[in-house]
Amino acid sequence: MHNFIDPSDVGHFIGGRRVAGNGVRTQPVFNPAIGTPTRTLHLGDTSDVNAAVSAAQVAFSTWREVPPIRRARVMFRFLELMNRHKDELAAIITAEHGKVFSDAQGEVARGIDIIEFACGIPQLLKGDYTEQVSTGIDNWTTRQPLGVVAGITPFNFPCMVPCWMFPVAIAAGNTFILKPSERDPSASLFMAGLFQQAGLPDGVFNVVQGDKEVVDALLWHPEVKAVSFVGSTPIARHIYETGARDGKRVQALGGAKNHMVVMPDADIEKVIDALMGAAYGSAGERCMAISVAVLVGDVGERLVPRLAERVRALVVGNGMHTDVEMGPIISRQALERIEGYVDIGVAEGATLVVDGRGLTVAGHEQGFFTGGTLFDHVTPEMRICKEEIFGPVLSCVRVHDLSAAIDLINAHEFGNGVTCFTRDGHVAREFGRRVEVGMVGINVPIPVPMAWHGFGGWKSSLFGDTHAYGEEGVRFYTKQKSIMQRWPESIERGAQFDMPTAK
Ligand code: NAD
Repeated sequence: MHNFIDPSDVGHFIGGRRVAGNGVRTQPVFNPAIGTPTRTLHLGDTSDVNAAVSAAQVAFSTWREVPPIRRARVMFRFLELMNRHKDELAAIITAEHGKVFSDAQGEVARGIDIIEFACGIPQLLKGDYTEQVSTGIDNWTTRQPLGVVAGITPFNFPCMVPCWMFPVAIAAGNTFILKPSERDPSASLFMAGLFQQAGLPDGVFNVVQGDKEVVDALLWHPEVKAVSFVGSTPIARHIYETGARDGKRVQALGGAKNHMVVMPDADIEKVIDALMGAAYGSAGERCMAISVAVLVGDVGERLVPRLAERVRALVVGNGMHTDVEMGPIISRQALERIEGYVDIGVAEGATLVVDGRGLTVAGHEQGFFTGGTLFDHVTPEMRICKEEIFGPVLSCVRVHDLSAAIDLINAHEFGNGVTCFTRDGHVAREFGRRVEVGMVGINVPIPVPMAWHGFGGWKSSLFGDTHAYGEEGVRFYTKQKSIMQRWPESIERGAQFDMPTAK
């Protein structure tokens, strides 16, 4: 049976209660700036998933019957509480993820955007109606919730990415089980507490902590009707294949390698500002981070030396310190992987312009820090150009013209985000039309679509048909039903054996 959890530990939130669960495995949660464990995480097991699914199933039977406008009112109260506690939530994120506090505040703000969007659920669920499709017959479509649905999220946005999923799913009448990243699990519990305070009935939103064991139990559970996943591409593919085989709806967002094309007419100073934020913000641990700069014509000569000065001057440290621009990496293993890629780039013959390896931050000697790294003269065959590094490493590739830039991007395995800096409207238009990437920016460093537009990449960056949040999110979490109706006065006598047509 579930026991109440020690408040200093991180456990689950099932059926409206914080519990330690039955899983016997635990793992430390680190503050990556300090490099030491701060809390103990209880990893769930299959029985914890079963308990959460049962709680969510029971809750579904009543939550689905709550009129959308009343579900929206709970959402409005949740929105208000999220706004009231947004800085507490941002501090929780910085303490476990490491990103600078102002960036964590930005993440919370973008999560809140989706809650605002979900407040409009009565309008979003409004169906279509046609009177008199045939004499005396009306036809309408309605969208109904799926049931118990699950979300599995990555470490890099412990508030925003869960918010891509659960507000929309729950507003649409589903009940939800969130499996957050085991690296930074506390933000989800904090949100679950606020949602409960907002009046959400027990069992509508559940959090089960854990790793592959919990994910697999969710995937195999027949009562879990849909799975939303965000994380790396190999796991996204596994989730998509396994879930789809069992007839579940799956949207699985994977990894990325995002390019910024810089045309010769672009304002170089503004491009440098954009590259600094997009490549090194959040230590490059964003799925929309720019990791390849595609420099067209003579841009390389003009841009690289000045960019290098800025990368060398990057202020790296504890994300809670106000002057810091870049925090630590999430874990020691991730730090070693990133610095290992810098070794690979050197071995492949790229020019290492700024070397971030081996950085120590005074007073934080055990923290998981690396500095900003900049490579020039990178070529498309190099692993540092092909593979996702997911760290503060920017590769510059030089090409002759726009077509070469677009060809290079279109040949890449990933297609999450891309951007082009130019003053030329025709170039911007051609780029937007021809590039095979799901989210495109023109003179915008990180084009993350707003709450009502939906988020999703192409190619190996997304498995499934629908993007996260926005109207596609509502479609993902609901199924369409068409109802055709007439009343006895309109029924003609006699059996009809031919295909019914409008009369
Ligand atoms: P990850 O794939 O390691 O983990 C994501 C989730 O999957 C976590 O909840 C984790 O517990 C679970 N998981 C890990 N291994 C598993 C396994 N073998 N079987 C089942 N579940 C497993 O990703 P991460 O390191 O947390 O996050 C970084 C990755 O996420 C990057 O590749 C990044 O590009 C990607 N990401 C993509 C988007 C997007 O929108 N496309 C957004 C954010 C992050």
